Amino acid sequence: MPYTLPPLPFDPAAFKDFVSANTFAFHHGKHLQAYIDSANKLVQGSHYEGKSLIDVVMTSSGPLFNQAAQAWNHEFYFNCLTPEPQEIPDKLQALLKANFDSVEGFKEKFAAAAVSNFGSGWTWLMQTGPNKLKLFSTSNAGNPMVDGFTPLLTIDVWEHAYYLDYQNRRADYVRDFLKHVNWQFVTDNLK
Ligand code: MN
Repeated sequence: MPYTLPPLPFDPAAFKDFVSANTFAFHHGKHLQAYIDSANKLVQGSHYEGKSLIDVVMTSSGPLFNQAAQAWNHEFYFNCLTPEPQEIPDKLQALLKANFDSVEGFKEKFAAAAVSNFGSGWTWLMQTGPNKLKLFSTSNAGNPMVDGFTPLLTIDVWEHAYYLDYQNRRADYVRDFLKHVNWQFVTDNLK
């Protein structure tokens, strides 16, 4: 079964103070579609054919890893977003406080990591053990799963994620991202 474009889990026009519907149209309909198409081409006729996207991410390398991981990372990123600001569930609040001193402290450290992630990549909140959360920045298509960690939250810091709306102002994009995190999704990812 070829990989297919997952629908966006929200109305892309519903964000009033974040990236525009135009950005989502390119990011989801063009960039993510292209990663999926390329992953499909690369698995065709290989021993990866028929494997789930996550299996391919976990076991491939080189060009196939890049395309498959970009496909997986983008679906995860879109699931991390919600137009309506959400309260952080108690369970996650407690973990953020335990690992980053406070929720605000977590947001500041996450934003600093995302702003300073050099070039194109992803900045993650991941779970590394029971009650243990860490920040992690990857370049290009990198993903903490391949190092054995559990991704909880990610922000795409490739310029295509924000350039149409924010141009070079990545810090503003990161600030507004943090107003639109789907904290329930993040909490559901906890092991
Ligand atoms: Mn992207």
